[in-house]
Amino acid sequence: MKNYEKKVVKFGGSSLASAEQFIKSANIIKAEASRRFVVPSAPGKRFDGDTKVTDLLIACYKNSAEGGDWQTVFAEVESRYNDIIAGLGLDLSLEAEFAVVRDNLAKGTTLDYTASRGEYLNGIILAAYIGYEFIDAAEMIFFDEEGKFDANKTNTVMSERLSGKKNAVIPGFYGSNPDGSVKTFSRGGSDITGAIVARAVMADIYENWTDVSGFLMCDPRIVENPRPINIVTYRELRELSYMGASVLHEDSIFPVKLASIPINIRNTNRPEDKGTLIVTSTDGYRTDDIITGIAGKKGFSVIRIEKDMMNQETGFAMRVLKVFADLDIPFEHLPSGIDTMCVVINAADIKGREYEIASAIQRAVNPDHIHIDKAMGLIAVVGRNMAGMPGTAARVFASLAKADINIRMIDQGSSELNIIIGVDEVSFKRAIKAIYKEFCN
Ligand code: ASP
Repeated sequence: MKNYEKKVVKFGGSSLASAEQFIKSANIIKAEASRRFVVPSAPGKRFDGDTKVTDLLIACYKNSAEGGDWQTVFAEVESRYNDIIAGLGLDLSLEAEFAVVRDNLAKGTTLDYTASRGEYLNGIILAAYIGYEFIDAAEMIFFDEEGKFDANKTNTVMSERLSGKKNAVIPGFYGSNPDGSVKTFSRGGSDITGAIVARAVMADIYENWTDVSGFLMCDPRIVENPRPINIVTYRELRELSYMGASVLHEDSIFPVKLASIPINIRNTNRPEDKGTLIVTSTDGYRTDDIITGIAGKKGFSVIRIEKDMMNQETGFAMRVLKVFADLDIPFEHLPSGIDTMCVVINAADIKGREYEIASAIQRAVNPDHIHIDKAMGLIAVVGRNMAGMPGTAARVFASLAKADINIRMIDQGSSELNIIIGVDEVSFKRAIKAIYKEFCN
């Protein structure tokens, strides 16, 4: 276990949905003096079918913009906060804050301002409950004239403002425009705020507290009870998320990755679980698993181009790829042989354009045949430990052969970080199960 002195801890909506959840989060914060900078979300769902405070606020905005009744929904927001305050036994009133928001809604405010109040008000309660200083994110997180997040200005202002502070609560999800008005990140954006704060204070680690004990090795809808991933590198994570694994939002990884700060995904309801640790390099961490995770996506097409003596034609591949660039169609993989070249494309990107593509390729390289195969699923077997480990690919293929699954495509980059396998969509789930069983059981 490493010794951490400065942690940034972000708590998601379910971790702060009720007084009971607040108490769990506060206990986690208090358990370690290093948990000095805290980023809260707005209160999330307390039970299945409940509504997040952010969604209630968005409804308030919509109703007010349409001249409807927003007051009833806003009263619900108020009671969510008042219940938390009462449940915590806090001597705190948010009446004056509610009045400001009501006043702004009545005058006609923006959606971003309204939505951001979920985090703002929750931050005030949390700061009062744990005795930390509250600092409004609008004073430290900036967007530029074009509405883009201004990382440099934010980092300069925030690191200066937080330097020397013992602790602080900084509400997630929003910052401010150059004119001072509030602007939010996209939904789920408190994760981004946490990463920004972690970079600004140069935290030893960014803990992201949620309601799951980290990422799973594969989709639990395909494999029952998959094992959690203990350690994953930022590069592996990118491969997994690109191939469909739902992990953290790219923007929320960027600031901490830039500063080489590890992220630890933890479960507020099971603080004893270690969760998933995301690191730049696994130096100093023990890891035995050959495979880190398996992810996959359906919906690919393969355009197969065949031409005798293709290998002797200089510039063949370049002319084919120019066709796709000119048509503004991105490609995913390029597995090739001596006389064949295959271009793997997201099927949705070429739907209805097959004829146009085939004729453009015909004109560009005059091939003997062009085939378009549809309904392929791609599976990425990702693992940094595969590099230099003979026999891993053989085990992947043997497990598929044993399950009687035909492999339509194989692609392995020389970094050996992943092996990509193309299978018929009908065999997709079975293939993931077979690979998981081979390596993880
Ligand atoms: N409260 C916001 C949302 O529901 C942001 C967040 O929770 O991260 O999207």
